[in-house]
Amino acid sequence: MKVALLDLKAQYNTIKTELDEALIKVAVSQHFILGPEVTKMEKSMAEYLGCKFALGVSSGTDALLIALMALDIKAGDEVIVPTYSFFATAGVVARLNATPVFVDSDPVTFNIDPKEIEKRITPKTKAIVPVHLYGQSSDMTAIMELANKHNLAVVEDGAQAIGVQYKDGRKVGTIGTIGCFSFFPSKNLGCFGDGGLVVTNDEALAERLRIMRVHGGKPKYYHKVIGGNFRIDEIQSAVLNVKLPHLEGWSAKRRENATLYTELFKKAGLAEEEGKLALDENNKVLLPKPVYKSDTVTNYHIYNQYVIRVEKRDELKKFLGEKEIGVEIYYPVPFHRQECFAFLNEKESDFPVANYAAEHSLALPIYPELTNEQIAYVVDCIAEFIKAN
Ligand SMILES: *Cc1c(COP(=O)(O)O)cnc(C)c1O
Repeated sequence: MKVALLDLKAQYNTIKTELDEALIKVAVSQHFILGPEVTKMEKSMAEYLGCKFALGVSSGTDALLIALMALDIKAGDEVIVPTYSFFATAGVVARLNATPVFVDSDPVTFNIDPKEIEKRITPKTKAIVPVHLYGQSSDMTAIMELANKHNLAVVEDGAQAIGVQYKDGRKVGTIGTIGCFSFFPSKNLGCFGDGGLVVTNDEALAERLRIMRVHGGKPKYYHKVIGGNFRIDEIQSAVLNVKLPHLEGWSAKRRENATLYTELFKKAGLAEEEGKLALDENNKVLLPKPVYKSDTVTNYHIYNQYVIRVEKRDELKKFLGEKEIGVEIYYPVPFHRQECFAFLNEKESDFPVANYAAEHSLALPIYPELTNEQIAYVVDCIAEFIKAN
């Protein structure tokens, strides 16, 4: 049986007519940039997320970049980021000639460990960028407390977490100063290319973001500030307008798939419970733990990724590849081990959890259209590998 890590065609086929019509509508209009589809998308996103302002931008990476630019992050400033994330989280800081300062991960969620943040705050620190990794919230209570205490901005990287709720019910991205999202096709809400979103409740910041999105000109051709071309286009927004009403259903289906994985791993005797911290005799497979699961919050986790931890991870990955099961490592190299950041002279021993994560984590297929048979096959194959090793 073939099980892809992600099958975008399966999703497309369920809403093909609606999507095709929306694309043709844009073609007929010949209105491509910042038109009615963008306006509609921004309004729906602000409503869905529960915030005052939402602006479509060119990608998730550009959402982070424009957010830091709007906050006037520049050379000499320090910005705290988790060492374990997608490259863009740290890359945007360095591109502004500011210094990314790395923090180790929480051992249960792999999100930034708030206990490690304060040690790294200096008079130069301007912002913290928590990443809601794999689709569950970082510890925003602790992060906002630290930010308020030290007068720091918080830029939430919600690229993997659109619609995720914190334990108080608020959607991530709306808790910090600015929230950033990505519509890259592999995210839970993906468009037909690159796209992103910035959100805020601060009117002055929203205005700054709006101006910076079009090179910083206001009125056009008159520049008080330097921005860039950070626009999203009509085609991407039209796709998002079709897809947004389906997002809650897709996230629920991902959660169901995660529940089934957990059940089957337990039944196969490979795991005892969710969220064990280190590999031990009783747990051959460590399961992801939704730490903010409760009866009152629906989207406590949206499983952009379902990430297990295993010994002999690389051998298992190869074995599953031979069985035609798509798996991936998010991420094999934490920032403190990246060649391009060697000049920062970070200490390997300061990041034990991220190092562990890089060496043991493995993402399994979790997309909404996956069948129960496919999930059972993935668990069977992992059980077969572990028995033989
Ligand atoms: C995908 C992703 C980004 C970048 O988004 P793009 O739209 O691909 O530029 C940033 N941060 C995280 C955590 C991501 O997963």
